[in-house]
Amino acid sequence: MTVADYMAACNAHYYATRDPLGKGGDFTTAPEISQIFGELTGAWLAGQWRAQGSPAAFTLLELGPGRGTLMQDALRATRGVPGFHGAMQLRLLEISPVLRALQREALAEYAVEWIETVEALPPLPLFAIANEFFDALPVRQFVGEAERKIDWRDGGFFFTAPAQDITETGEAGESIMRLLANHINRFGGAALVVDYGYDGSARGDTLQAVRAHAYTDPLADPGEADLTAHVDFSALTRAAGGGAHGPVAQGVFLKRLGAELRAATLCKSAAPAQCEAILSGLERLVSPAQMGELFKVLAVLPHGFPPPAGF
Ligand code: SAH
Repeated sequence: MTVADYMAACNAHYYATRDPLGKGGDFTTAPEISQIFGELTGAWLAGQWRAQGSPAAFTLLELGPGRGTLMQDALRATRGVPGFHGAMQLRLLEISPVLRALQREALAEYAVEWIETVEALPPLPLFAIANEFFDALPVRQFVGEAERKIDWRDGGFFFTAPAQDITETGEAGESIMRLLANHINRFGGAALVVDYGYDGSARGDTLQAVRAHAYTDPLADPGEADLTAHVDFSALTRAAGGGAHGPVAQGVFLKRLGAELRAATLCKSAAPAQCEAILSGLERLVSPAQMGELFKVLAVLPHGFPPPAGF
């Protein structure tokens, strides 16, 4: 089978059968590290909604919402934006029943509709966020013209070619990006895509498996580890076709949106130990040595719009 088919099958099982996030899980994400992440990205989306004339009905969409933490923080932070919650129709794109249940709990005070494809969106302006969603989508791998595959022999999986001179293509992610960008161009709106990845020259083999916060062999225990590939931001930018801005480094983006000021405000009403946790969370998100540079942010707006806040 292709690497993409393997990745899709493994991740479908993996996400359907567990909550992978947090200390007791396999990996941790920005919204689980600090509330500032969801607050600032939520405020960014509300700012774009206002800049486009505060449309009276719109979809607020998250793709791959995990535990629902980001959306919870985003909605709390935008409560004070006049008309925003009243005009919003909250939609979540999620395949995992386990995570859907956690999202239902986290967002119990809001009406939520779950969808399975971007094509199910109604013809309304779309304000969307995706954090660590695109990296979970399947990639194909090639050595020259030949597709690298995964085969089975003597009770184990193996790659049909070594991990050298590999190029990756992410059709699944590009097709979702194309749909989002077309929708936004047609009906208005804005999207933020945050993920770890590269912009420019390809990186070779980036398929990786993470289990219990450590790297493991992607072919061992299929469906029991988180399989990801680095996101090719230049390919996503091309797929967005004209409305893309960035990518900018996550640290730069969050600082431009006032992450440090927000942390200082939170610290004012926090005990010293709590304040230390707030500051170290912020440091993890923005420091180039941690997530600040590897993680990147891409914005999508209707064609011809000037660069939005943070870009
Ligand atoms: N955004 C969250 C979770 C990231 S984990 C956070 O930052 O914490 C990846 C998320 O994408 C999970 O919610 C997972 O179930 C979802 N997901 C993975 N593949 C998907 C697919 N093909 N369709 C819809 N959701 C998917």
